Amino acid sequence: MVIAIASGKGGTGKTTVAANLAFMLDDAQVIDCDVEEPNAHLFLKPVMNTKETAGLPVPVVDESLCTGCGRCGEVCQYSAIVVIQKKVMVFHELCHGCGACAYFCPEKAIREEEREIGIIESGTAGGLSFVHGILNIGEPMAPPLIRKVKERIERGRTVIIDAPPGTSCPVVETVRDADFCVLVTEPTPFGLNDLELAVEMVRKLGIPMGVVINSCTIGDSGVREYCEREGIPVLMSMPWDRRIAEQYSSGMLMLRNLREYREHYGSLITNIRAELSRDETAHCHQR
Ligand code: SF4
Ligand code: SF4
Repeated sequence: MVIAIASGKGGTGKTTVAANLAFMLDDAQVIDCDVEEPNAHLFLKPVMNTKETAGLPVPVVDESLCTGCGRCGEVCQYSAIVVIQKKVMVFHELCHGCGACAYFCPEKAIREEEREIGIIESGTAGGLSFVHGILNIGEPMAPPLIRKVKERIERGRTVIIDAPPGTSCPVVETVRDADFCVLVTEPTPFGLNDLELAVEMVRKLGIPMGVVINSCTIGDSGVREYCEREGIPVLMSMPWDRRIAEQYSSGMLMLRNLREYREHYGSLITNIRAELSRDETAHCHQR
């Protein structure tokens, strides 16, 4: 079971939910796909035992073989290779490493060279297994590294994925083959606006979802009313509590010290399981 924890915007407490949920599951695998700013490790404090560089195969053109036919530029969907006046130019930062240009080059003038885009570290935190990716500074494309981080998913386990914030390509890449998506939000007009965008994205991906409302004792009722209208289950509501913010800002795992909230997370797990089995039943009936 792969559960992605996402949010339409940053600062809603997404990583807090991911880390504390994993802590409650104890033998889960945590995959931090927020590769531009991974911080689940700050709370779970894993002992890292492997560190690998992650690369992307980018094209290198052998000018002595190239006829300037332009085929590579035609097949590249990302404008990462262009041919102007029979001269080939490669923009490595735009290249997704798909290999199409090399495959279609009639002269076999393109070979691939690995370009480092980041690192992947893995380790353990108690019974948890932990993996995260760290994108190199200045590297514009997170999805290729996210794909590589996700290759480490152990399908037999319960997997908690901490997704990047927002609704752009890195989030889609992270969430797209999850079994369930938890959207973390806050009860404000901004929170609602970003939640609506996130819901739209998850619906397009066809993934069952539920919402966690943080700081539910402040703000307005807009998020709750929206969820009711849209038939989206509210899986957990956490009150505003200054101590939660203090735990976060000092890098502490909230449930370790504020034990009274363990019940909330216990209900969150029960509610996710109930939604997953409801979804499975609905699929069985459709067959
Ligand atoms: S497809 Fe090959 S031969 Fe044609 S322009 Fe590109 S590199 Fe040169
Ligand atoms: S590998 Fe793919 S993305 Fe990169 S330049 Fe070639 S066709 Fe474009």
